[in-house]
Amino acid sequence: MPIIDYKCPNCGSDMAFDSATGTLLCGSCGRSDDIERIADPLVNLVFTEGEVREYHCRSCGAVIMTEAETTATLCSFCGSAVVLADRLSGKLAPAKVIPFTISKEEAIQAFKKWCKNGRLTPRGFMSANRIKSITGMYVPFWLYDLHNKVEVHGQGTKVRSYTSGDYEYTETSHFRIYRKIRVNYSGLPVDAAEKMNDELMDKLEPFHYDQLKIFKTPYLAGYIAEKYSYDHKQLIPRMKGRVSEYIDDYIQSTVSEYSSVSITDRPIETHIKQADYVLLPVWVIHYNHKNLEHSFAMNGQTGKVVGKPPISKAKVTAWFAGISGVSLLSLKLISWMIGGMFW
Ligand SMILES: [Zn+2]
Ligand SMILES: [Zn+2]
Repeated sequence: MPIIDYKCPNCGSDMAFDSATGTLLCGSCGRSDDIERIADPLVNLVFTEGEVREYHCRSCGAVIMTEAETTATLCSFCGSAVVLADRLSGKLAPAKVIPFTISKEEAIQAFKKWCKNGRLTPRGFMSANRIKSITGMYVPFWLYDLHNKVEVHGQGTKVRSYTSGDYEYTETSHFRIYRKIRVNYSGLPVDAAEKMNDELMDKLEPFHYDQLKIFKTPYLAGYIAEKYSYDHKQLIPRMKGRVSEYIDDYIQSTVSEYSSVSITDRPIETHIKQADYVLLPVWVIHYNHKNLEHSFAMNGQTGKVVGKPPISKAKVTAWFAGISGVSLLSLKLISWMIGGMFW
């Protein structure tokens, strides 16, 4: 059966990945195994084609509830960590993984702090138990290594003002802009899970890729993991969208000497050098507010937090009354806070 679980060789209890030590840890006797030294059973497994319909927990025999994308989960009856090996082999085998370094307790503390810091959070928001679920999830991403060639065409102006006698002169010079740029990106991440919000996932960056480990299944023990819904070819349009944003920023940095710039054309030629399938750690908290569900996500490696806090309209109005008229900047800040906080 294509199920892998992790029983302690000393005492037979369940072992799980421990974010504090980065090892496979037994909660009962404290045995701790270095994952890099564990021979990964996946290496020796060969699966016949065809979808497995039902997985059974090897500890209690119960049917394991999974979605089509699930690759690691917990038995909902006995809590054993299980890995669905057939969904992690062959072309579904991740190349690398960044293990969790933020624990569940740390994620909950960060969520509470985030709620408290939100000055516009409704009164009493944190007094109720809002957390509906907290999930440590390895989200599938493609990391692209890219070579890009860009030809930039446009116009720029330089404006100079000076006074001579009784007159003020403004002199505008026009320039034709042409730039030929080569930009390489290594490890540009694009999330490959259909159910994850793309914007939210983009905001979780950066991850520190120097911590990428060769993928082994024990890293998933005790967490939820999913396989990719889109392969690296299907994600090319989204990858190109991200590349053009980066390149536009870069182009701006090369034309900063002009007073005004208008880019008329900038064809980008992108060549994919490599695309690696990796799993990245994310804490997802679903919480209730006014019977609506909201999500809070946290980078499971760096602790960076993203999400949209619930906002009290009364508090916004009071705050606005207090500072309105101060400056245009404040108004901009408010619209930013109301409209797009953290998103
Ligand atoms: Zn043990
Ligand atoms: Zn079970």
